[in-house]
Amino acid sequence: MTCSHCSIGVWSSSLEASVVLRNDGSESRGWRDDCRGFSLVCMTSSNPQPFRVLIAGGGVAALEAALALRDLAGERISTTLLAPEPEFVYSPMRVREPFAYSAAQHYPLAEITRDIGVELKQDAFKWLEPEGRVVHTEAGEQLHYDALLLALGAILRPRFKHALTLDDRRLDEQLHGLIQDVEGGYVHKLAFVVPQPVPWPIPIYELALMTARRAWDMNEDVSITLVTPEDAPLAIFGRAVSDAVERLLEEHGILTITSAHCETPQPGQVSIHPGTRRLHVDRVIALPELLGPSTPGVPKAAANGFIPIDVHCQVPGIERVYAAGDATDFAVKHGGIAAQQADTAAEAIAALAGAPIEPTKFHPLIHAILLGGEKPLYLSAHITGGHGSSSEISEEPTWSPPTKIAAKYLAPYLESRDRAALR
Ligand SMILES: Cc1cc2nc3c(=O)[nH]c(=O)nc-3n(C[C@H](O)[C@H](O)[C@H](O)COP(=O)(O)OP(=O)(O)OC[C@H]3O[C@@H](n4cnc5c(N)ncnc54)[C@H](O)[C@@H]3O)c2cc1C
Repeated sequence: MTCSHCSIGVWSSSLEASVVLRNDGSESRGWRDDCRGFSLVCMTSSNPQPFRVLIAGGGVAALEAALALRDLAGERISTTLLAPEPEFVYSPMRVREPFAYSAAQHYPLAEITRDIGVELKQDAFKWLEPEGRVVHTEAGEQLHYDALLLALGAILRPRFKHALTLDDRRLDEQLHGLIQDVEGGYVHKLAFVVPQPVPWPIPIYELALMTARRAWDMNEDVSITLVTPEDAPLAIFGRAVSDAVERLLEEHGILTITSAHCETPQPGQVSIHPGTRRLHVDRVIALPELLGPSTPGVPKAAANGFIPIDVHCQVPGIERVYAAGDATDFAVKHGGIAAQQADTAAEAIAALAGAPIEPTKFHPLIHAILLGGEKPLYLSAHITGGHGSSSEISEEPTWSPPTKIAAKYLAPYLESRDRAALR
């Protein structure tokens, strides 16, 4: 038979054991149906063929995976990044833009990929042909892979008809006028509402806090209510964080209604379930609902079109296809989680390419910096079930580098770019 990785001849001597024929005619014994256990064979042959990794996406998970693979598998692999946008934008910092702070950082993907030795294709994933290990792109190209990582992010959809639904790509444009109205005393009652399932947990709390502080600074009286299906504020971070955030919200005069589902039957009205409570406000600001990306050819057992993954972030039912980040069916959508999934997938892919590594299982640990209070707060928790355990909150950083998106490779990489840009 032929190696499923590099086309070198492989003879099965039993169901498990196999013998690999090197290009120089000698043999090696192993236990697989391909040459992964014999990667030196591939790399030292006269016609070395690196293992082809295709990463679809150009966001947090995609870049983290590209960096992790460079570290874990080095020259064994060649990586291509397939991304439609020319830039990576650091979206967590966009919440500050409507308050006239400096804009979130934009990083050209062409520079990053050149820097880390990755090929960039500015195009988009259209559909997958798993049998042939081919991705078909929007521009009509066929890209062959030995391993594929889907890091396509989520699709945003407004959930409430009569609300301003946040879109991080134009947050400043959406909220700048509202903040000016708060400053000018034209707006007195605001509701911030969260759909079920809860999308990214952090930004709605930050926006509510920052709006309250801006009103306070301008001596304006604004009543703010935050309505969320979570059973406590930022419940995913566990009890200690929820208690502290609840106090912080109270100190800022924000009324928080938890375990609540809402509708916006008319402009300025929020009806809350269970119960008959109604809020009458000047404006309603909502987080979007998140849906899985369009990926024909990929099995979609999960709700809302998210891509199912196992503990190694592999997509069950298709060989050599992995997924990470907001596109997956993991319930918590968060940059740090996207990065950890990317690292998990990168380990599995590096092992597949023959790197001497034992892939570990995805074991989510969530870190976040909450802005909007007097000082940034550093939140951490292990995620067990739907809640955080080992819940920690601190005014001092508890991870390094202490960035909004905690990512093993991407955070130090971007930090070094930022430092170099200042020189
Ligand atoms: C306002 C805001 C604040 C946030 N704050 C925090 C925070 O403080 N901390 C934190 O950890 N997280 C935060 N998040 C969440 C975090 O940004 C996301 O969880 C994270 O970006 C998810 O990473 P991802 O790679 O899965 O998706 P994304 O970063 O969204 O990247 C998806 C990529 O896929 C590309 N793509 C889309 N379609 C295709 C296609 N067909 N083919 C190829 N590529 C495609 C996109 O162009 C993009 O490059 C925040 C999010 C928002 C919106």
